[in-house]
Amino acid sequence: MSKFKELHKLKEKMEADDSLPLKKGANRLVFGSGNTEASILCIGEGPGRTEDQTGLPFVGQAGKLLEKFLLLAGLERKKVFITNIVHHRPPENRDPEPSEISAYGKYLDKIIEIIDPKVIITLGRFSMAKFLPNVFTTLPNGEEVSRTPTISAVHGKRYEVFLGGRSVVVVPMYHPAASLRNGSVLKSEKLDFINLKNILDEIFNPKNDTVEVQQNSLI
Ligand code: URA
Repeated sequence: MSKFKELHKLKEKMEADDSLPLKKGANRLVFGSGNTEASILCIGEGPGRTEDQTGLPFVGQAGKLLEKFLLLAGLERKKVFITNIVHHRPPENRDPEPSEISAYGKYLDKIIEIIDPKVIITLGRFSMAKFLPNVFTTLPNGEEVSRTPTISAVHGKRYEVFLGGRSVVVVPMYHPAASLRNGSVLKSEKLDFINLKNILDEIFNPKNDTVEVQQNSLI
């Protein structure tokens, strides 16, 4: 079965799942959209008002900014697949709760399995925490002072994460909504996406060192 068909079936299953905790208060399921054959998967936090009305992820102001960021990395939106940590809008756009993240998690894991991306770009701290759960605020002596993941320490960097037995590159980014609110986050996030182009080049267009090694060994 094609990835498109598999994702479509999964979406239907999710739409029929009345146990999903945020379903009652939401208008639409926001499953995800984009290129189902993509090697790059973007994962945000949860749908906002516009997404809840349209059923599509990142179509409001934060989405417009995300599209500009993606272009800085040389990526058109249609080249990637975009989804969220939770797929129904939390009331009043509040943060998703751990029990909600875990209820939607089994579907998100399946989306990741089907897309089988080489690179995951996380947008915001909830999405980051799924893949980099050990990023917490700690004192220099190692004592943990907060269970809140600190995105400021890791944004824009490249991490190798083992998922389902294979390695995936995870690049945690600030949530675009944070950039809309804060000029210095915006500046920093622009630089991160410009640098993402280099990270993607390393992954998708690596210099062919093997040839050089072979030539050297002939001398
Ligand atoms: N913010 C998100 O995290 N996801 C969306 O789909 C829209 C805004």
